[in-house]
Amino acid sequence: AHTLRLILGDQLNSQHSWFSHQQDDVLYVMMEVRQETDYVLHHAQKIIAIFAGMREFARRLQLAGHRVHYLTIDDPDNLHAITANIEKLAQMVQAQEFQYQAPDEYRLDQQLQVFAQTTALRCYMFDSEHFLTQREEAGKIFEGRKKWLMEHFYRQMRVKYQVLMTGQDPIGGAWNFDHDNRKAWPGLPWEPEDFRPRHDHSTLWATIQNAGVKSFGEPNASEFAWPLHRDEALTQLQAFVRLALPHFGDFQDAMSSKAWRLFHSLLSFALNVKMLSPREVIAAVEAAYSRGEVSIAAAEGYIRQILGWREYVRGVYWHFMPDYAQENVFDHQAELPTWFWTGKTKMRCLSLAIGQSLQQAHAHHIQRLMVIGNFSLLAGLHPQRVHEWYLGVYIDAFEWVELPNTLGMSQYADGGVLATKPYVSSAAYIDRMSDYCKGCQYDKKQRTTENACPFNALYWDFFARNEEKLSSNPRIGMVYPQLRKMQPDIRIELAQRAQFLRANLDKL
Ligand code: FAD
Ligand code: SF4
Repeated sequence: AHTLRLILGDQLNSQHSWFSHQQDDVLYVMMEVRQETDYVLHHAQKIIAIFAGMREFARRLQLAGHRVHYLTIDDPDNLHAITANIEKLAQMVQAQEFQYQAPDEYRLDQQLQVFAQTTALRCYMFDSEHFLTQREEAGKIFEGRKKWLMEHFYRQMRVKYQVLMTGQDPIGGAWNFDHDNRKAWPGLPWEPEDFRPRHDHSTLWATIQNAGVKSFGEPNASEFAWPLHRDEALTQLQAFVRLALPHFGDFQDAMSSKAWRLFHSLLSFALNVKMLSPREVIAAVEAAYSRGEVSIAAAEGYIRQILGWREYVRGVYWHFMPDYAQENVFDHQAELPTWFWTGKTKMRCLSLAIGQSLQQAHAHHIQRLMVIGNFSLLAGLHPQRVHEWYLGVYIDAFEWVELPNTLGMSQYADGGVLATKPYVSSAAYIDRMSDYCKGCQYDKKQRTTENACPFNALYWDFFARNEEKLSSNPRIGMVYPQLRKMQPDIRIELAQRAQFLRANLDKL
């Protein structure tokens, strides 16, 4: 072969122009390498889902007449580093050229850039033909501005791509229907049936384990529920639009111990490994609105996540890396409590959200943000440790999207680049949005008693400790006036209780 073309595990985009015609002098290369299984401890389902998706992608490429060299995790010829495998293969088949698609992770981007500069092969990087924006596009939009704002970016995207627009005006007369989208779930309508496929990946899971790859979480290999290829992802998209999207807006922020999926799409994995393109997902949702099947609030609420947040956080990532990964504005240093790996805590909200994450490799946005992330920030956990946990545990976690969400939006470690305020709350918010507090061993109403909900004292203490950094933030509103009105002895009790909690995280 004259040319090697690398396809990474999150580049399963069968619609890419590379594959539009078959070329005899091109050899596609896919590899399962320890470099990728080991850079962080991953959830078992994440490893299975990516390897299974890669294997199926390779199989289909071959069926379509393309030449593919696939290195499995247990192949004795596998050197387990991407560039070393490429160099060796290039010599074997006497390739002169190496082509790759722009990686989404800074880590891989650097590695391949360095390789391109040092190898004797001619190297070319191609667009991955997935995103709606270029890596630097958000950075350019905010050039010279003091503050980055998702809303500003999102409106530009709506206009540029003419999504839910009539000319320059947003359909429905508003850009945002979030005020309609903040309901708790009363138990009805019941969540739709699980519209994901099922596969038996037991053999693959045994291979992964025999190769010595470490992981955590429930593999669920025999009834594996994540899509294997584009066809299944499309089926899932259609089912989501039909069954769940009509209620998505209403219950977007709701949480329940009885229904873990609620009305979410569970499409983030298929999107992030590029089985689906954001354009087609947006188009499917917009079409459902046009047909009158869903409200504008549901359609807009969903499209905002993909056309807005998803592209926006990617822009933040590429603009602020590599320094971004090290940010720690509150200088938080605590290690994760051991129950992050087991779900065994008396705090029912955390036990359910973490338990579900370990079981399903998935939690929805408010569980990630307002339960697990909320607690992590209030407890003063080290943002890099929190980042590594999120990067490992979720099926959809790839650094370009996970890092800005975790370190920025959820831990405010970037000092407010991504979030306009720290997303923290006391028990009241969690109680309003879920049924978690009912049946919890802690008392959601108490602040300083022995069985008082830990969120309460930690919440007030967080703001008290960080007054200098936060009190001038207009979005924080009533917190500081309320704190100043508190009796000094109450403030002391809150601080003592918070200190006790932070010293005993493992026991909560
Ligand atoms: P739905 O609720 O159905 O939303 C639809 C789609 O919108 C998602 O599939 C996703 O592609 C997109 N989306 C929604 N919110 C965001 C967001 N904040 N940023 C980017 N895209 C968004 N999402 C990831 O894809 N990977 C991650 O590693 C990740 N880590 C997160 C960490 C934290 C701390 C938080 C608060 C959020 C994180 N998110 C991440 C965003 C969001 O929680 C997930 O995209 C969502 O829960 C995936 O489930 P779903 O497909 O059912 O989403
Ligand atoms: Fe969580 Fe506190 Fe509610 Fe218990 S009482 S579920 S710890 S918020």
